[in-house]
Amino acid sequence: MSYCVNCGVELDKDAARCPLCQTPVVNPVCPVDTTIPPNFPVERREVEPVNRRELALLLTAMLGCAGGCCVLLNVLFWWREMPWSAIVAGACAMLWVWTVVPLLLRRVPSLVLVGLDLLAVAGFLYLIALAVDGLDWLVRLALPIWFGCGVVLLFLWYILPRRSILSRCMLILGGCVVLMLWLELCIDLFLGSYQPMWSIVVAAVGLTLVLPLLVIRYRPDLRREVRRRFHF
Ligand SMILES: [Zn+2]
Repeated sequence: MSYCVNCGVELDKDAARCPLCQTPVVNPVCPVDTTIPPNFPVERREVEPVNRRELALLLTAMLGCAGGCCVLLNVLFWWREMPWSAIVAGACAMLWVWTVVPLLLRRVPSLVLVGLDLLAVAGFLYLIALAVDGLDWLVRLALPIWFGCGVVLLFLWYILPRRSILSRCMLILGGCVVLMLWLELCIDLFLGSYQPMWSIVVAAVGLTLVLPLLVIRYRPDLRREVRRRFHF
């Protein structure tokens, strides 16, 4: 057994150089054994990229089969007032927009794709409302919540990639606080009157977390220290 004379690391019997510091191995007592096959691949191979069109076709077939089979079963056997298969088919259509559309539209900006995803969610909510005869619930509760989530998500999606880690944390926390306030407003207005309670608690906690981050963000010495300690 040999050890590197430079860094002291234990060497394999077939190592002609130290793998860490590249110092040549010279040990007259235990010469390098060149007959042992190397215990790591010597050829560099690339992983073949996934064919996007084939993957899109596979996902389309899977989702189409799931939705189509449910509709067929529903039509043949258990047709009642509420066609439950419409909800399953709608969910499959929504998943199709989420998974297959980004594969097919590669050059479209991701912000547009997120917008399409949100529209798919709105369509699915509309389908549920039709199935359970709840257009009032849709207009007064689901769509306002969907709108709030959509605005916050699109804003964060647009702004986060251009910001530092500290700013991202602050923006995500701020987005969550705004979303919780909006959520309680929508629910309370749907139920009757607006009496903020739990969202205020969430907002207070969120702001107490944002404030120290703000101080760190605008104090260069603190920022440097945090970067050093957390390896940013
Ligand atoms: Zn070495």
